[in-house]
Amino acid sequence: NRLYSADAAVAESKVPENDAVGEISSFQDLETLGVHRNLLDAITQDMRYDTMTPVQAKAINPALKGTDIVAQAKTGTGKTLAFLLPLLQRMIEEDPTLATRKASRSARSDDIRGIVLSPTRELAEQIATEAKRLCRRTGLVVQSAVGGTQKSAMLRQTQRQGCHLLVATPGRLNDLLEDPNSGIDAPKLAALVLDEADRMLDVGFEKELNSIQSYLPKDKVRQTMLVSATIPDNVIQLARQMVRPHDFEFVQTIP
Ligand code: ADP
Ligand code: MG
Repeated sequence: NRLYSADAAVAESKVPENDAVGEISSFQDLETLGVHRNLLDAITQDMRYDTMTPVQAKAINPALKGTDIVAQAKTGTGKTLAFLLPLLQRMIEEDPTLATRKASRSARSDDIRGIVLSPTRELAEQIATEAKRLCRRTGLVVQSAVGGTQKSAMLRQTQRQGCHLLVATPGRLNDLLEDPNSGIDAPKLAALVLDEADRMLDVGFEKELNSIQSYLPKDKVRQTMLVSATIPDNVIQLARQMVRPHDFEFVQTIP
């Protein structure tokens, strides 16, 4: 069981067995792995990133193959792009029409294809900003749903503009999924990301995470990526619940 080996690797502070991955370290080279030009151009031309950070080099390659990921790396090491790029690429692979601008016109709020969960409003907004930059050359519509803002205003905007990728705090997303009139649904969800999983559990979002899971489709294989600065027992428990137990990679970068 890979989760147990991840657990042991953390306990012994050893680099896990998948250390050989990540030979590709330039964003340009991702074209050979089939990453859509419109995503790569946003990274290399608009954002002007050239070389991947270590966690990006280790996580992006297996994540692009559809493998579930549990990634541990320090703050400020570029984890956002490490999960956003594979997430957006998977959404485009499952529906190639999303790659071109036209798709934004037919976006719906009840056909969300990607969800990123984040512990705080500020972090969620930062992730949504980075996702919008990445999606600029595509038709992918990004929305955020966080606590402390007006739910009705968010819903009006999402119903009017549609949403392919939703970045949310667990409390607000659970609230929207529980509300039969929200118009928010994700029956064809391609991928789910739990960012800063340790902080989400510290804040006490476990109940909301379980509830959210119950609203997500069970008949469709979705990719799940769990990202965390630390991997304590409660994060391992959460990983057991959320990732496919026999098909995930534990990615760890040690400073
Ligand atoms: P983390 O989530 O690990 O704390 P972030 O994803 O917020 O880190 O990234 C930290 C900073 O590094 C951000 O300002 C981001 O724009 C920048 N960054 C990420 N990846 C790269 C890269 N490959 N090249 C240059 N800068 C990058
Ligand atoms: Mg982060």
